[in-house]
Amino acid sequence: MKRDGTNKSIWENEMFPHQNIHTQQKNFQTIIVGGGITGISVAYELQKQAHQCLILEQENIGFGTTGGTTAHINNFFDESYDRLISKFGEDKAQTIADHAKSVPAIIRKNAEENNISCDFDECSFYLFSAEKKQDKELQKILDAHQKLDIPSRSVTEIPFEITFRSAIEIDGQAQFHPLKYINGLLKAFKKLGGTVLTQTRITKHENENGKVAVQTENGTEYTAQNLIWATHIPPGITRFSMLNAPYRSYALAAKLEKAPEKLGQAADLYDPYHYFRYHQIGDVFYLIIGGFDHKTGHEKDTEKPFEELVRYAEENFGFIEIAEKWSAQYYVPSDGLPYIGAMPGEENVFITTGYNGNGMTWATLAAQIIPDLIRKKDNELADIVSPSRVELLESAKEFVKENIDVAYHFIKDRFTAEKKPELDDLKTGDGKIIVHDGKNVAAYRDETGNLKLLRADCPHMGCTVAFNTSEKTWDCPCHGSRFDTDGNLLTSPAMEGLKKI
Ligand SMILES: Cc1cc2nc3c(=O)[nH]c(=O)nc-3n(C[C@H](O)[C@H](O)[C@H](O)COP(=O)(O)OP(=O)(O)OC[C@H]3O[C@@H](n4cnc5c(N)ncnc54)[C@H](O)[C@@H]3O)c2cc1C
Repeated sequence: MKRDGTNKSIWENEMFPHQNIHTQQKNFQTIIVGGGITGISVAYELQKQAHQCLILEQENIGFGTTGGTTAHINNFFDESYDRLISKFGEDKAQTIADHAKSVPAIIRKNAEENNISCDFDECSFYLFSAEKKQDKELQKILDAHQKLDIPSRSVTEIPFEITFRSAIEIDGQAQFHPLKYINGLLKAFKKLGGTVLTQTRITKHENENGKVAVQTENGTEYTAQNLIWATHIPPGITRFSMLNAPYRSYALAAKLEKAPEKLGQAADLYDPYHYFRYHQIGDVFYLIIGGFDHKTGHEKDTEKPFEELVRYAEENFGFIEIAEKWSAQYYVPSDGLPYIGAMPGEENVFITTGYNGNGMTWATLAAQIIPDLIRKKDNELADIVSPSRVELLESAKEFVKENIDVAYHFIKDRFTAEKKPELDDLKTGDGKIIVHDGKNVAAYRDETGNLKLLRADCPHMGCTVAFNTSEKTWDCPCHGSRFDTDGNLLTSPAMEGLKKI
């Protein structure tokens, strides 16, 4: 399978053959755009309730961030419970915690009921302080967990070699092979009568009189009562590309000499934090380590975070060899909670975005929330994560802070491109922005020495894209749209590719 970057994730070694079965059916109850964990989990849940669904995926299943995740299934979030309590109150934090607690069991049940062999394991998470100044934060987190009945306690040992000051153990976590899981769920979805078309990009949509029509790149139209954007971020210019900041995180999988004594997951409290866990595939045990996150398009040399990650791995852990290294994109929501529910003003169009680094958990919860909303059934979590939630006003302040650098990019990008088109200096496999005829041009020299020239303005809102040296993509620093070196669109919110010159 393919992913939206050049580096291969550990999950991509597995093959999941899928053939589109061409259907004359053009009208469905619900159309789901996106074949990552969100699209497939939501579609499976709806189809199980005898709701006729169509999944449309632009490339292959798992092409987006799901193919580049590290697949921890956690009952707590990057936005810690002490912060959730102070922002949203204890009652709402309790509701969130109660739902999050149910996620490993939902995934286990889905896997068992459908005979999905997906390396599913349950274990504890160890959160630790690596420096004195992190001790207080760790204590606050422990206090909040105990307040919300999330089984957590102080411990003096963790199942990793790394040194630490103090640590807490949080029960009730799980992990899996994300692509084995979603491909298994997709098989079950198809068995239930669901339809899926891969290699099918949606380029247009309309919503009139309670009926949604989507158009594919080749002009085919499908209609439905409901549309779900399971595209990680909804496409086009919406408030949600302003309320979510795109970030890139780096991961590696290192082969271990022998099985760890105990499975486990862990992270420190740096910002950005380092995270790691064990994973078994066949007879081989891996240590998966991640971190060194930065805002998309804000790191000039994206090989550097990989070098730092490898150094961090070598300094803190023993292993035989690094099997794979990769990076992927996620979205940080402005008030700490995702936006899952109806698009404001459109009750039959649903979005589910802003998962931060907790998409396995939120996607599984989205598969409870959205079917309930479609069936007009009460769901207490839906009110808290609603895209129309009142906290949007508060979020707007955060949005202004998050987006100061977006405004900065709009201006700066116009003046910092290389003035002289020194294309001769451009090495194979490298890209840079140059000025040609007064326009910013994204120039890339491919492995055969050919130059590929594209307009450097992101078609979403006009920011100048930046070259990602390690994934060999053009990434927009404003809202996270991404393109391959031929200009083809890889990641929304843009709806089209970079223009060729
Ligand atoms: C390095 C890294 C590690 C992470 N680790 C964890 C973790 O351990 N635990 C955790 O819970 N979360 C983690 N996350 C977050 C998690 O991986 C994501 O939140 C999750 O995978 C998002 O899934 P998704 O299905 O919503 O989006 P995606 O997987 O991105 O899927 C969206 C799909 O939509 C398709 N699409 C987009 N536009 C169109 C269109 N116009 N037409 C048709 N198809 C379209 C794309 O091709 C893509 O396949 C991590 C993120 C990163 C970057």
